[in-house]
Amino acid sequence: MSSKENAKLSLCKTSTKLNKLSLNHGATGNCSIREVAGFLITPSGINNEHLNEGHIVKVAMDGTPEKNQSNQLSPSSEWRFHRDIYVHRPDVQAIVHTHSIHASTLSVLGKPIPPFHYMIAVTGGKQINCADYAMFGTQKLSDNIISALGIHKACLLSNHGLVAVGKDLQEAFDIAEEVEHLSQMYIQAKIIGEPNLLSDKEMDEVLGRFKSYGRWEKE
Ligand SMILES: [Zn+2]
Repeated sequence: MSSKENAKLSLCKTSTKLNKLSLNHGATGNCSIREVAGFLITPSGINNEHLNEGHIVKVAMDGTPEKNQSNQLSPSSEWRFHRDIYVHRPDVQAIVHTHSIHASTLSVLGKPIPPFHYMIAVTGGKQINCADYAMFGTQKLSDNIISALGIHKACLLSNHGLVAVGKDLQEAFDIAEEVEHLSQMYIQAKIIGEPNLLSDKEMDEVLGRFKSYGRWEKE
């Protein structure tokens, strides 16, 4: 099996897993993996649980889908922000986008998730930013995501969901799952009181620890 086939299979398995864990549902969300001169992305309009390798679409960095594909499927309508993240972030090798319920719930407030828990630092920052609203599939949404994501590994999308990135698909998936978990915790904490936020210094210490691991680990 070539590495390209492996990447396609990984995208199918991850999409199915996202639905099984209720991080996505139906055909919502999408995933991609960087390739030479482009990226592989899940298609538009197919239930994530019914995907197979033949459904995955290769897109060039200019947004042109690869020609001569057997099924003529279109790439996810969100291909623009995947392309723009790969252009702006040479460190990113894979992207996971979800409409998971708790992160999407927080996204309607249009505010960052503050440092209420040390695991916020797995995203590489002291808070998780929220990209301003723009309609799905638009260049404006992509611009807003690039701005909110910065050099970090996740951001919310106002009135929409979340985006997580990583050095591989597993890391992007792990971060999307963690941000959803943090979002649930934050909502629950807000119901019973005002969360105690960690200080800049405390978050700097956590960020330093995560950096020294190379890859974050739960403690
Ligand atoms: Zn979406």
